[in-house]
Amino acid sequence: NIYGDRQNSLGRDYSQATDRERHAAALERVDSEKLTAGPIIGGKLRAGVNAQDVTNPYDRTRILGHVSEASVEDVDAAVGAAANAQVAWDRRGGAGRAPVLRAMADALEADLDRLVALLSREAGKTLNDGVAEVREAADFCRYYALLAERDFGGRQTLKGPTGETNELVLHGRGVFACISPWNFPLAIFTGQIAAALAAGNAVVAKPAEQTPLIAAEAVRLYYKAGLNPDLLALVPGRGETVGVALTNHPGIDGVAFTGGTDTASAINRGLAARPGAIIPFIAETGGLNGMFVDTTALKEQIIDDVILSAFGSAGQRCSALRVLYAPKDSADALIEGLKGALAAQVLGDPTDAKTDIGPVIDAESRANLEAHVERLSRDAKIIARAELPAGADKGDLFAPVIAEIPTPDFLEREVFGPILHVYRYEPKDLEKVAGKLAARGFGLTLGVHSRIDAFAKEVMELVPAGNVYVNRSIIGAVVGVQPFGGEGLSGTGPKAGGPNSLIRYAAEKAISINI
Ligand code: NAD
Repeated sequence: NIYGDRQNSLGRDYSQATDRERHAAALERVDSEKLTAGPIIGGKLRAGVNAQDVTNPYDRTRILGHVSEASVEDVDAAVGAAANAQVAWDRRGGAGRAPVLRAMADALEADLDRLVALLSREAGKTLNDGVAEVREAADFCRYYALLAERDFGGRQTLKGPTGETNELVLHGRGVFACISPWNFPLAIFTGQIAAALAAGNAVVAKPAEQTPLIAAEAVRLYYKAGLNPDLLALVPGRGETVGVALTNHPGIDGVAFTGGTDTASAINRGLAARPGAIIPFIAETGGLNGMFVDTTALKEQIIDDVILSAFGSAGQRCSALRVLYAPKDSADALIEGLKGALAAQVLGDPTDAKTDIGPVIDAESRANLEAHVERLSRDAKIIARAELPAGADKGDLFAPVIAEIPTPDFLEREVFGPILHVYRYEPKDLEKVAGKLAARGFGLTLGVHSRIDAFAKEVMELVPAGNVYVNRSIIGAVVGVQPFGGEGLSGTGPKAGGPNSLIRYAAEKAISINI
């Protein structure tokens, strides 16, 4: 039993005064700290290049700290230090590595309030999203510790007809480059590193440009948990400079990437072009996520689940709902309900426990979303738009939108923010409509709302997806029980937080002994 007596991490309850007070104190601390991020190599913060302020997406006048980018020399030093330390780490075996990952989970939980405050300030996360993210990061560490013990503990004997002793062992590949996005700047950042470490690798991690401070804090927590600092380096900076320098570095033995589909294919092309190297590439990317509803489904439940799936985390989840397919006969009633539910969402400062929807990540993202709204006003129909609260002009709050689209293939790709598209379909056309979505080539999440099993089964057969959710929201996969990741343009796998997560981080060795 790989789960053993593992429990998932516990959260906070902001309706309780004690939890609110802890949060207020943590926020004050984060605001006064003026954190610094930069290249961290062998446990030491280096000067780096191109120093910049890190600001708050809700209020751009608020400076949280500073970051400097890693130079090419920093990347080189990081890979060199990691390579030197990796062999001894690999030889420790899973049982020797697991305690460090468990200590990291404990360290994350011990620092939960401060991390939540930082997630709100730097990434615009609401409190509940922040808590869920810290818990997920801790869950990844504990779960991968278990997998390390299960799979990297010794030799698996393979009995067969050869008369020899045949054994299979897993070991680390070497140095992994871990490249992560801003939308889960703690959970994905920590989780990729935990997976690579658990499998016996050393790591050079490049966080997203928008969220270097939380990444630097996670790295410091790994050191506090007892990780040899040479095994984990941080190289902050832009994708096109630091990211490229890292993935092109000849000392890299594998790349784990989470982010956009186009970025994944650019990295993949770069890796393929490297002479004399075949580099394993793990990519978790974007989706074009749909939810299909039939007339047997419960309206109130659909509305709750759609609002959460489309607008939770300001729609900035790779799993978020982009297109709701509503049957013609119940579409009007559903749309009316969605309008009312959207109007009840509270937009605003993510550090306030009452806020449901915080800002989008930056001005560029907000501008892209506004450009999409223009397209919707021109070529589709805006059904509802939430109102921005007073003071919204300080930062990157974006008013969520519900729009009805005229054709099932209106969207070519993911629009990363709080915009829900609704398409009315004729039930007799289900196959054709679902086929249009499938033809886009993504395959991340898929929702179904129905009380008829055959309907759910048919939708699942028609639309590829790595994670299917029936009669519930389509976000919030839980580590260890809902392994997460897509297929097709949405990712290579293996899924994060599942029993096979570590396999591509590892090399397999078959040993045959003639006795
Ligand atoms: P992004 O692709 O712009 O950036 C991701 C990371 O790649 C960043 O660290 C960036 O600096 C780096 N990067 C960019 N260009 C690079 C290059 N040429 N070489 C090396 N590194 C490079 O994505 P984002 O905007 O940070 O994140 C949002 C995207 O991530 C969305 O598409 C979302 O769906 C996806 N996402 C997917 C999952 C999943 O598990 N499938 C989870 C979260 C986010």
